[in-house]
Amino acid sequence: METSYRLSAGEMDTLFAKLAENYLIYAPVRIHNGGRYALDDTIMYKEVTKYRDIEFHERSIFSMKEVLTPISQTLFYFTEEEFKEAKVKDERELLIFGRACDLNAVKIQDQIFLENGNEADFFYKRMRDKAHFVLMECTEQFDGCFCCSLGTNVTDLQEFSVSFRDEEAFVNVKDNEFATYFAEATPSDYEIKAPEENELQVDFPHLNNKEEYKRLVMHPMWAEYEKRCIGCGKCTIACSTCTCFTTKDVCYTENRNVGERKRTCTSCMLADFDTMAGGHCFRKTIGDRYRFKILHKVYAHDARFNTGAMCVGCGRCDADCPEQISYSETLHKINLALVEIRQEMASEAEMKQKEALHHV
Ligand code: SF4
Ligand code: SF4
Repeated sequence: METSYRLSAGEMDTLFAKLAENYLIYAPVRIHNGGRYALDDTIMYKEVTKYRDIEFHERSIFSMKEVLTPISQTLFYFTEEEFKEAKVKDERELLIFGRACDLNAVKIQDQIFLENGNEADFFYKRMRDKAHFVLMECTEQFDGCFCCSLGTNVTDLQEFSVSFRDEEAFVNVKDNEFATYFAEATPSDYEIKAPEENELQVDFPHLNNKEEYKRLVMHPMWAEYEKRCIGCGKCTIACSTCTCFTTKDVCYTENRNVGERKRTCTSCMLADFDTMAGGHCFRKTIGDRYRFKILHKVYAHDARFNTGAMCVGCGRCDADCPEQISYSETLHKINLALVEIRQEMASEAEMKQKEALHHV
């Protein structure tokens, strides 16, 4: 049964101290002077011990995916004869604060790491099995968000939800596992509110068949990005739903037969990302790579899982691109290209029909 409470700042401090006994708490925090330019702050996911450290009024630059899939992690240690799995450093369960779009992004990560083939990804699963989620209510919107266009403004993936108004916290507890932490709290009639409309509305493109996809791949709309995109990969590293990684063996200087295998986050936007052992490269130009990234989100993921867009409309890619390339504007251009492609296909079908009648 869901119950709501109102907690003062002091009660929240006590709550966090109790939660920290059993959970590692991760949330977006402000890093002073940690931004792109001198004296700029940045917002990133870190372990928190006090609720006051959580940044509620700005979107984090990187998404919460780095809690489950760190930017770099050791998978196992090896010698010539054996290997040993790298242990998780803290045995406590995880309690991760995120917005509705962030929590919906976890479902997409789950598909990629747990449901993509016969074996679930061991290292993702062991973190995911420990994860509990807290929904942070969006009381304001950020530049470039379009969750309402994708239905990711709401989520069922949370144990409890929380909203801060002035110095008070309002909490709605869904999961009985957490009810005991609120036994002394004052009940409230708080109900979580989801954003109902974003300033930016996006008509997310939907492709009807593979032929439309093939023609879209060849469409001249991608040429523009050849000049504009610098292939830095920032959009994908920040993206809530991108999951590409590379693995590398690091051998120790003292003994080259001993070392560790590391998994590091990478990006389909980087040169050489898809270069094969024999030297063949599938996407040689930046324009090719940008097209691949976008069409993976629009078409390829859905073709694989049949669950719609590989995107939750968090807007981080638009906000973080140093070349100010707008993903939402690219989606708009795809819609215009699709109108052309569908007209072209309809006229070709009409021509074929006429030719067939002519031969009768
Ligand atoms: S593609 Fe952009 S808007 Fe969509 S989930 Fe990734 S960062 Fe967010
Ligand atoms: S779209 Fe922007 S952020 Fe992404 S690789 Fe190109 S320049 Fe970098």
